[in-house]
Amino acid sequence: MASHEHEEHSFFGDVMKYFENAAAHLDYPKGLLDQIKYCNSVYRMRFPVRVGEELEVIEAYRVEHSHHRMPTKGGIRYAMNVNQDEVMALAALMTYKCAIVDVPFGGAKGGVKIDPKKYTVDQLERITRRYTTELIKKNFIGPGLDVPAPDYGTGEREMSWIMDTYTTFFPGQIDGIGCVTGKPVTQGGIAGRREATGLGVYFGVREACSFADDMERLGMTVGLEGKTVVVQGLGNVGYHAAKFFHEGGAKVVALAEYEGAIYSADGLDYEAVFQHRKATGSILNFPGATNLAKSSDALELACDILIPAALENQIHEGNAANIKAKIIGEAANGPVTAEAEVILNKKGIMVIPDIYLNAGGVTVSYFEWLKNLSHVRFGRLGKRFDETLNNNIISAVEEMTGKSLNDKQRQLIGRGADEVDFVHSGLEETMIEAYRQIRAVKKEIPSIPDYRTAAFVVAIRKIAKAYESLGVFP
Ligand code: GLU
Repeated sequence: MASHEHEEHSFFGDVMKYFENAAAHLDYPKGLLDQIKYCNSVYRMRFPVRVGEELEVIEAYRVEHSHHRMPTKGGIRYAMNVNQDEVMALAALMTYKCAIVDVPFGGAKGGVKIDPKKYTVDQLERITRRYTTELIKKNFIGPGLDVPAPDYGTGEREMSWIMDTYTTFFPGQIDGIGCVTGKPVTQGGIAGRREATGLGVYFGVREACSFADDMERLGMTVGLEGKTVVVQGLGNVGYHAAKFFHEGGAKVVALAEYEGAIYSADGLDYEAVFQHRKATGSILNFPGATNLAKSSDALELACDILIPAALENQIHEGNAANIKAKIIGEAANGPVTAEAEVILNKKGIMVIPDIYLNAGGVTVSYFEWLKNLSHVRFGRLGKRFDETLNNNIISAVEEMTGKSLNDKQRQLIGRGADEVDFVHSGLEETMIEAYRQIRAVKKEIPSIPDYRTAAFVVAIRKIAKAYESLGVFP
């Protein structure tokens, strides 16, 4: 593919296409469909920040795609390829994502066009605080308005700067810290948010691999045990996805980053690779592994499950025909283009779509927001009570039967739940339930060609219902 063609490619155009493909299977009035699919508010800003001796003018965005539920929700990315089309597409994906996993928010997204690696921590703090101020000025942030979170190039540190800036402007606002999620646990964050997206990806793929008839169609056995996995991206999402696939019995045979990729048929130790990259600055030359020259080479390896966990447009018209994986799990947002999907469908490859598969992050963001509004850690009130109750039951049963549990059994059954236990189990339930809804729609409407279209049908139905109950559309 010529590079200019790649630049012309519209990510938002792809999302509109997915939406229209799904809407064609439904019977809603055009006005309602239009209200859902377009972006409600697009805020492009430029602001000056002092960088060394210079004033630098920074380009940034916040897009709120849908206000059918409030607040709106979505991450903020720091990257050089941030542009309006991309932020609009990502905001729209957030709307559908939230609907699919029953998170009662509209979709939004933010982007700051910078390469975060080029700035000192001080400078990044100044940029983040100034960006937050711009959002405040235009009512684009607030616990009941629009709630940002981490995305590509941002993390807990940036979220705590955002929270601090917001609460400085609104002292005494009792729910103020709910203005952003993905905060450090010490700053109003929630245990389990960091690994949430990667864990959700794992739960989603595990669920997909649990249906015998679907697996038979793909020529695979049921379950994850022994399945080969390739992960592109060793950021927060890719790292945790690799970790949970490994712990779940799958074999991670290749890992890719932008500087290249490595492969080992015997499986890679994701943690050792992560440390190696941290120490040497590159994923390449990992002892015992084979170097692949280009990151994109990893995408074309023969494997059972391919997990693109980096950026959009990774599998496109130019390489889709070479993909050998049986399942592609979209951990990133938009890694498969619309043109590529047509080719993958013809090859019988199952694509588990981003709007479902990476929704674990926003699901746990929702839990964090609930925690912030309720001003109490999950489990704080009940943990000790449950522990005492469970141990009393164990003792009574032991007394009645004359048999006693060993220490390990007693610990397993006797304990009360911590916050992280609630978060993980809430996430697991959410991912399983949403997958079943998508699969049920695909069975209900046999002309639906893929899981992405089925997932969009699930989302559109729920959003339409929200508008209908508002009385906006009869
Ligand atoms: N940036 C993440 C996403 O794309 C998380 C959004 C959130 O937690 O609000 O889903």
